[in-house]
Amino acid sequence: KFISFEGIDGAGKSTHIRYVADYLQQRLQAYDHQVICSREPGGTPLGEQLRDILLKQSMHLETEALLMFAVRREHIAQVIQPALERGDWVISDRFTDASFAYQGGGRHLSLDKLNQLEQWVHPDLQPDITFLFDVPLEVARARLDATRELDKFEQEKAQFFADTRNEYLRRAAQFPQRFRIIDSTRSIPEIQQELAVILDLLLQQ
Ligand code: C5P
Repeated sequence: KFISFEGIDGAGKSTHIRYVADYLQQRLQAYDHQVICSREPGGTPLGEQLRDILLKQSMHLETEALLMFAVRREHIAQVIQPALERGDWVISDRFTDASFAYQGGGRHLSLDKLNQLEQWVHPDLQPDITFLFDVPLEVARARLDATRELDKFEQEKAQFFADTRNEYLRRAAQFPQRFRIIDSTRSIPEIQQELAVILDLLLQQ
């Protein structure tokens, strides 16, 4: 199975990825299946090099979108597809919904172009479940300021994050079967409880 994690910066998704990976690994061991944790942009040696460039350098919006999908193409070919074929589970910290939310929603690249790129790069592949960690902007901002230095994207203005969050929520409404919106203002144990219920269902399928 393929699980993606999404949310605006500071929504708290990274905190929960380790929990989900451990939870699944414990239960999949009996079947000799692994949990592969990966991320975008990144996920492969080439993808990690491109991540470095993407996070530090300014570039044309379309160049940015094309590089994100180039990273994704490599990630699918080298990591996701082989793992799924082996029967392993893949957890990706961001996937194509992030391109729609950030490049589309946040930076206003046409959704039509993003749809075309998606059709090109993975016409037949979608996550089985997408966890969308959702918080109001002020909460996300406060968390970011408290924890670490902001990268190029995180320094963007509030409107950008509002537009990004709205596009995530729009996609969640568009694909309700795949998306699970997690109210990330709650405590970590409360969120973990909800995640466990969803994962148990997924393990039974
Ligand atoms: O998930 P993570 O926070 O590590 O992502 C790194 C940065 O890349 C984030 O600040 C996010 O805003 C940005 N990003 C982006 N477009 C994507 C994926 C990530 O702007 N498609």
